[in-house]
Amino acid sequence: MVQSPYVREALEGMEDLPDPEDIVIYDTTLRDGEQTPGVSFTPDQKLEIARLLDELGVQQIEAGFPVVSEGEMEAVRRIAREGLDAEVLCLCRMLEGDVDAALRCDVDGVITFIATSDLHLRHKLKMSREEVVERVGRVVEYAKDHGLWVAFSAEDGTRTEFGFLREVYTTAEEAGADRVHATDTVGVMIPEGMRVFVRKIRSVVDVPIGVHCHDDFGLAVANSLAAVEAGATAVSTTVLGIGERAGNAALEEVIMALEKLYGMELGFRTEVLAELARTVAEYAGVDIPPNKSVVGENVFRHESGIHVAAVLEEPRTYEPMDPEEVGMERSIVLGKHTGRKAVEAKLRELGVEPDDEVVEEVLRRIKELGDRRVRITDGRLREIVEDVVGSGGNRTREGSR
Ligand code: MN
Repeated sequence: MVQSPYVREALEGMEDLPDPEDIVIYDTTLRDGEQTPGVSFTPDQKLEIARLLDELGVQQIEAGFPVVSEGEMEAVRRIAREGLDAEVLCLCRMLEGDVDAALRCDVDGVITFIATSDLHLRHKLKMSREEVVERVGRVVEYAKDHGLWVAFSAEDGTRTEFGFLREVYTTAEEAGADRVHATDTVGVMIPEGMRVFVRKIRSVVDVPIGVHCHDDFGLAVANSLAAVEAGATAVSTTVLGIGERAGNAALEEVIMALEKLYGMELGFRTEVLAELARTVAEYAGVDIPPNKSVVGENVFRHESGIHVAAVLEEPRTYEPMDPEEVGMERSIVLGKHTGRKAVEAKLRELGVEPDDEVVEEVLRRIKELGDRRVRITDGRLREIVEDVVGSGGNRTREGSR
């Protein structure tokens, strides 16, 4: 990784950035991710995704919301009993019954939540602030009394007046909450706003702070990282950023940004990321956009002549991370932007000595086809080469494949 000097300078000024060993990823692909409209994982699929998250090294897996259905409860229970290294959590409303359901699943801990914004209190919960505070104190204490690790999320917290939030967070802390979450339920934060928000929470509680962001304005990852810059230690993610509406902060982006851009050695087996993304995409029935950061098929694919020539000599010229470290492969595609170096490299792959005349003629034909938007597969390239070599000289050796 070649670091930007400006990032290095910025990092030197970040006094609240946590130590890498304190960073926790609490992945919610199996809960918020599954709340993507139209997505429903089977218990077997959930278990397989949980195993891959565990292999990656995610510290906490939010496995589901047990009260949703019998199948959901069964899936959470199976994941909790799988013996993973990760702690298995599940979501609970501020109801003793939800905590009881979590206990029946044998989870390690729960994420308890209740909305706090006036908008949600008035139009959704139809509850007063006093009732909310009373419930938080009662249910967090109930979960703690039953031996659970407990996080508290103030839903729609980023649209909640801080005077009230302070009361809710301190109530949760006094009731024994092990972590409180800064929750941007509808994705309305900007990075500097998130830094302000997290600093305010830190000024009123001593427990660790987690952050849960949504991507309605495309800022979920930026806002999550800003929260970490301000001292939040736990980050909620989903694979590919799937989730309600525009989704959540993408796991692969958060991990790679923390490791590569912030220089944190977090110990994740990042080479699992590509397989994890493909698995989740398949089970969720979504396509991975070709330009998806980290795991999209175009991320390590090069066509432009200038780029290919540079990458073949030194990959770091156009690749800020290595494909292998995220389980991807570099590829060179041929088209109208192709240059000589790419053709030479492709000919060598086909076992053909890249003779100047052959290269020129193959390149001319590739560009002609590229202009006509014909896709140049390896098979088509082999045909072109055979044709050129057959009609040209005999200075090539037999193809090896
Ligand atoms: Mn959410």
